[in-house]
Amino acid sequence: MGAPIEVYQMNDLYNQSKDGNKVNLTVGAYRTEEGKPWVLPVVKEAEKILIDDESLNHEYLPVLGLDAFSKVATKLALGEESSAIKEERVIGVQCLSGTGSLRMGAEFLARILKLKTAYYSDPTWGNHDMVFTNAGFTSCHSYRFWDSVNKRVDIEGFLEDLESAPSKSVIILHGCAHNPTGMDPTKEQWKQICEVVKRKNLFPFFDMAYQGFASGDPAADGWAVRYFIEQGLEMFIAQSFAKNFGLYNERVGHLTIVLNDPSAIPSFKSQMQLIIRANWSNPPAHGARIVAKVLGDRELYQQWLQAIQTMSSRIREMRAALKANLEKLGTPGTWDHITQQIGMFSYTGLTRDQVLYLVDKYHIFMLTDGRANICGLNTKNVEYVSKAIDDAIR
Ligand code: PLP
Repeated sequence: MGAPIEVYQMNDLYNQSKDGNKVNLTVGAYRTEEGKPWVLPVVKEAEKILIDDESLNHEYLPVLGLDAFSKVATKLALGEESSAIKEERVIGVQCLSGTGSLRMGAEFLARILKLKTAYYSDPTWGNHDMVFTNAGFTSCHSYRFWDSVNKRVDIEGFLEDLESAPSKSVIILHGCAHNPTGMDPTKEQWKQICEVVKRKNLFPFFDMAYQGFASGDPAADGWAVRYFIEQGLEMFIAQSFAKNFGLYNERVGHLTIVLNDPSAIPSFKSQMQLIIRANWSNPPAHGARIVAKVLGDRELYQQWLQAIQTMSSRIREMRAALKANLEKLGTPGTWDHITQQIGMFSYTGLTRDQVLYLVDKYHIFMLTDGRANICGLNTKNVEYVSKAIDDAIR
């Protein structure tokens, strides 16, 4: 037997629970005020257009994916005015959601460029280590990121660990809405990080699973990536369209590769084709067509912006409500971090024992490191959850 995957294990426990008050703060997926999954209205509209489009069929896509999708995905990550796009030194590869984009990028770096050392944040998304190790990285380490005492980014530790990383190490950076802490470096801190990455000849690999979903503004969420490019850095960017389009099971993702020397593009593409050929041969079309349609159409794009604002503002409201409730109850500790954090997750600071107490006594399910999906909160259950947390801490 392999080790269980905690997030799915907790989600199963939630599904099995018969308790009427049960609350699911586990899997990273958006929920409405009614606690339901949400199909974005603009996605439905795009699907209707696609169904009626007689020119479409189910033939194989090219190995590197749908060109129209790659173009809009690249623009979303780098911005309309990106110098890298204008200078034609960017490659776009359609992959299977964020996970597949990370995996293809990692496999390329390990097998073709022979890079074997990677660093991810402590803590990080539970899959980074496995994806990079399985892709051929033989030396995976963590860099300090979270200061659990002050509940902030440990920027001093982070920079020190980058300083001592060997040249050509791959540094995995969460582009926005850091998972699990929900705490992003400030712009000033990103500038410091970029300076060390550049000076020490490290290779940035941005994991962008939440662009637009985090703040409701894709440009604000893409700030760090764009800043690093302005500073002349080459990079890989793994984009997911699971959260920002609600297309979780369509597995729509994109690997954007920014190079300084465009003459390397043909060989990059040919090697990438071989890697993809040996994995899934060519990607699925439906989700990529939806994203291409929406991001490529002025009116649909506006509707998409409204949808990401709806999601991100509901999350902000729930963060504020949770914090206000805990403060009203006088729950021991400080709760500013709940509203300082961004994106779907809050690293609550609850201990493993406190989480298990919440699971047992209140049927509130979250990860035992204290990560809670704020989307699972709504105006009907936030008071119940706050009181339960208060009890667990006391
Ligand atoms: N990276 C991070 C940091 C994530 O949080 C996630 C999803 O939870 C992913 C990547 C990949 O998600 P997916 O493969 O569903 O796009």
